[in-house]
Amino acid sequence: MSASPGAPEFADSYLVEVLTEFGLALKYVRAEGNTLYYLADDGSEVGVFDAASGFGSLMFGHNNPELVEHAKWLLDQQTPVHAQFSGYSYAINLAAKLNEIIRRELKTEDKFYGLFGNSGAEAVEITIKHAELDRGMRIKELKEGIEANIEAARSAIAGGARVSEAAAGLADGTDFDRLVAEVRRRNAETEARPPLFLALEGGFHGKLVSSVQLTFNEEFRGPFKALAAQARFIPRDRPEMIGKVVEEERAALLDVVVQDGVVDLVERDFPVFAAFLVEPILGEAGIFPISRELARSLREACDTIGVPLVSDEIQSGMGRSGTFLAGTQIDLKPDYIILAKALGGGLAKLGVVLVNEHRYRKDFELMHTSTFGRDGFSSRLALKFLEMLEADGGKAYQLAAERGAKAVAMMEAIKADYPDVVKEVRGKGLMLGFELHDQGKSADPEIREAVEHEALAFVIGGHLLRKHRIRIFSTASNLETMRFEPSIFLSDEELAQVDAGFRDVCQILRDQDASKFA
Ligand code: PMP
Repeated sequence: MSASPGAPEFADSYLVEVLTEFGLALKYVRAEGNTLYYLADDGSEVGVFDAASGFGSLMFGHNNPELVEHAKWLLDQQTPVHAQFSGYSYAINLAAKLNEIIRRELKTEDKFYGLFGNSGAEAVEITIKHAELDRGMRIKELKEGIEANIEAARSAIAGGARVSEAAAGLADGTDFDRLVAEVRRRNAETEARPPLFLALEGGFHGKLVSSVQLTFNEEFRGPFKALAAQARFIPRDRPEMIGKVVEEERAALLDVVVQDGVVDLVERDFPVFAAFLVEPILGEAGIFPISRELARSLREACDTIGVPLVSDEIQSGMGRSGTFLAGTQIDLKPDYIILAKALGGGLAKLGVVLVNEHRYRKDFELMHTSTFGRDGFSSRLALKFLEMLEADGGKAYQLAAERGAKAVAMMEAIKADYPDVVKEVRGKGLMLGFELHDQGKSADPEIREAVEHEALAFVIGGHLLRKHRIRIFSTASNLETMRFEPSIFLSDEELAQVDAGFRDVCQILRDQDASKFA
C-alpha cells in the first residue's frame, strides 16, 4: 500500500512534498531569458537564475522575444497546425533545413530522412521501431537466401547429390525433407529471440516503455524490464568489450549448401542487435563527452556487426556544444541522429530522428504516425529556431562556445581554490558539469546522512536557490555533478552570481558544517 500524499494538490503531491523538504517547491509565474520569477509573500516578483534551462531546452532563453513573436505570428497567420495525411507538410521544410545543416557538419552528401514525434523519448521510440523494422527486413532477406538455397539443394538431391554425414546427424538420418524441417525448426527458434540493443553505460535515452530499457540507470529501468527489448551496456572506456558482448550474444541461422554433390549445412550470422545508441556527450551520466577514439571504435564496431550507429543529440545538439551536433567535434559518423528539446525553440514540443538514406526503410512512413507528430506549428517554429541558430554566420554556435569557455574558466578557478571539494569540471560549450568530491566521509553527520539518502544535491540546490537565487540540479544519474546549461545569453553578471554561489557551497563543504546551509 502506498502512503497517502501529504500535499493537497491533485497532481504531483508527492513530488511537491519531497521538494518542499529541501525548499525547492516553488511556483514560477513568469520566465524571461535566463530568469524564472516567483512571487514573494508581499506579491513582488523574485528572479532566479536558471542554470537548468529546461534541462538544456533553451538555447535562446525562456520566452525568447523573437521566437514568441514568431509563434504568435504563426497562429495569427492561421497556420494549419493539423493537416494529417496530406503528404506535404511543413515538416518537409524542416527536414530539408536539418539536412542542410547536418550534411555540412558531417561533410557528406548523403540524405537523411526525418521521422517526427512529440518529445525526445518518443523520437528514441521511433528510432527503436525503425531499427527493428530494418532488422526484420535484414532477417527476411537472409531467410529468402536460405529458402533459395534449400530449393537449389532439393534439385541437387533429385539429380543424385547426397546429404553429408554431419547434416544427417542433425536430422537423424539422410532424408532431405527431414533435414529441411529440422533446419526450419531451429531457425524459427533463433528468429523468435527478441532483439537486443547496444548502449553505453551511464547513457540516458528517455523514460518511455522501450527507451527506458536503453537508459542505464537501474532505478529508472529495472522495474520495467519485462516490458521491452533489452540492451547490453558497454563501458565507455572499454570499447573492446563490444566484441566480447557480441560474441556472447552471437546466434546463427542454418543454411544449406551443395558442394561436389554433397548437401551440407553452414551457419549464417543472425542479426541479434538492432542498433547501437550513444550520446556524444553523456548528459544524465554526469556530462561526459566521449572521445574521438571511442567515436571511431563505435563506427568500426557498428560496421563489423552491421548495425546502425545512433547518435542521441537530444540534449547535446542544436548548438549547445558550440557546433550544431556535438558529435561533429569528435568526428562521430552516425547512421541516425535524434534531436528534440531545444529544437522547438523552448516553446513547441517535437522530436525527430534523421535516418541516413542507406539505412532508411520507407515502409515505416505508413506504419508510424502520431496525431501531433510533424504538426504545422512545431515544424514552422523549429524552422525559425534553426534560422536564428544559423544567422550571422553561426553566431549562436560561437556564443555557446565563448560563454561556455568563460563559465569553464570560472569553475576551474573555483576548483583551483577548492581542490579538496571540486573533483572535475567537464563538458563542451554550454553543456557543463561541475563535479564535487564524494562527501560521504564529511565530519558533519548531517552531510553524511544527506549523501547516504542521495539528497545532498537537493540540499545544495535548496541553498543555492534560497541564498543565491540560482536554480540548479545534479544530473539524473550522477548526483555529485551539477548540470550547467543556461542559454547563450549568459551574462557576466549571471556568471558572477554563480561564482559566488558555488564558492559559498564549496566553503560550507570544506568547513564540514551543514548548519551554514540556508
Ligand atoms: N535522450 C537524452 C540524451 C536526453 O538527455 C533526454 C532528456 N533528458 C532524453 C533522451 C529524453 O527526452 P524527453 O525528456 O524529451 O523525453
